[in-house]
Amino acid sequence: MTTSQRREPTIVVIGAGVAGIIIGVILKQAGFEDFTIVENGSGVGGVWHWNRYPGLTCDVPSQLYQFSFAPKPDWSRVWAFGDEIQRYHCDVVHQFGLSAHLRLNSEVTAAVFTDPRWEVTLADGTVLAADFVIAATGVLHHPFTPDIPGRDTFTGEVVHTARWDDAITTAGKRIAVIGSGSTGVQVVSALQPKATKIVQFTRTPQWVLWAPMDMRQPRLVGRLLSRFPALHRQLYDILLWGSGIFADVVTRPSWRRQLVQDSARWSLRAQIRDAALRRELTPDYQPLCKRQVVSGSYYRAISQSNAELVTAPISEITPTGIRTTDGRDHEVDLIIYATGFYPHNYMRPMTLIGRDGLSIDDAWAKGPRAYRMTAIPGFPNLFTVLGPNSPTGSISPQYAAELTALYITEWLQRFRAGEFDTVEVTEEATTAFNDAVTDAMGPTVWNTGCNSWYFTEQQTIDLWPFDRATMTALLTEPDERDYLFTTHEKADATP
Ligand code: NAP
Repeated sequence: MTTSQRREPTIVVIGAGVAGIIIGVILKQAGFEDFTIVENGSGVGGVWHWNRYPGLTCDVPSQLYQFSFAPKPDWSRVWAFGDEIQRYHCDVVHQFGLSAHLRLNSEVTAAVFTDPRWEVTLADGTVLAADFVIAATGVLHHPFTPDIPGRDTFTGEVVHTARWDDAITTAGKRIAVIGSGSTGVQVVSALQPKATKIVQFTRTPQWVLWAPMDMRQPRLVGRLLSRFPALHRQLYDILLWGSGIFADVVTRPSWRRQLVQDSARWSLRAQIRDAALRRELTPDYQPLCKRQVVSGSYYRAISQSNAELVTAPISEITPTGIRTTDGRDHEVDLIIYATGFYPHNYMRPMTLIGRDGLSIDDAWAKGPRAYRMTAIPGFPNLFTVLGPNSPTGSISPQYAAELTALYITEWLQRFRAGEFDTVEVTEEATTAFNDAVTDAMGPTVWNTGCNSWYFTEQQTIDLWPFDRATMTALLTEPDERDYLFTTHEKADATP
């Protein structure tokens, strides 16, 4: 690499969710001020901005589901509700001075590499020039609504959980919920007590691990943690260490995996006494294979007399409800789609064009693929935070995103020092990383024979199969040998 003069990079961050907030704070902490965070929504928080369905809770303890740089001692609950998590994100944005960098209600429609810079186009026609683009676009942001025959004929109310409409009332109604993932379970648990009738349509039953999710965090705990920040830090470190153990539970067979799986089976046996209902709720795959559902109230809710579990496949939607293949008509006032997301879109559907006109759709024709979750061959000076293979099913996403953000700032520091104009990961390094991922997926629980949203269309598993120590090692120090560099004096690749 040749050295030229020092300069400040202009950076466009796409997305102001958990990953976007993290990269924003870490950029500021590293002294980078020339950055804009472009966000499609009207507020920050990503999934916590878009999801407002009744019962929305985070099934990760809040003392872990937070940023390491913004410890919050006084969560009201051990597993906080969505609105408290969302308030926390807004507070962090304010506390760290990110508001001035935000451009809300702005969809990025295109990002094109015009060597050596990027041109980022917004829906209103504005074009932002940038030295670097950081895609912090998240994973679960494009709601999926199945194209069931007759879908548009229903005359009652319809909503997808990820686009909840606050005008909808649910008390005293006959409600259909389609889906049995984490969202379906939370929404059924929340709405059952006041519904006239709630019918859950389940295509594949899920294991539901019991946890006391409605437990309050005692005020005294909050006061103690505020008073003794070192104690709070210790608690965070212990929970982080615990999440490391959980990663091990899902990545390889062990007595710990067995223990968690036995607990899931026990949760079902202990809470569902009715043998026929228990049979219908019993999955035919191992616990933890799909994204594990955690709830302290679901089995109680689905056992109540106003609740019904329907496992017969849906054949069509009619003007008055849902018809199943056994010929039954389920008449309802409201249909709730808890049917998940298109999870492998990442920054798409925007037009993303890298070096030599390479589009992201062509680069990812065989599925999303990156080097260590963050760099994509053919896309110089572009990084992702929580990109392909991020640990959505194991390690804390905040931990992964903070590590990745620090890794990216290493490259920004070197750009600032004038060491290069563009940096691009090599195809060879990306292939080697992805080969290692494929090998490591072998003994994971996700690979034990279930159909989950973790699978791409090409049947690869889009998760992190390694432990936390490996993640830390791979993202602590950029390895120059895995990258190509250009400078303006000499546009050749100079490793
Ligand atoms: P999901 O896990 O993808 O579940 C979608 C559900 O819809 C599945 O039960 C699926 O059945 C069903 N479905 C899809 N198409 C259908 C059709 N045509 N007919 C009948 N059923 C259909 O989505 P999600 O529950 O929204 O959760 C997505 C992820 O968000 C979770 O896995 C988790 O990572 C995250 N999340 C986290 C929390 C939290 O507390 N931290 C809360 C909510 C969500 P099949 O299983 O048969 O495909």
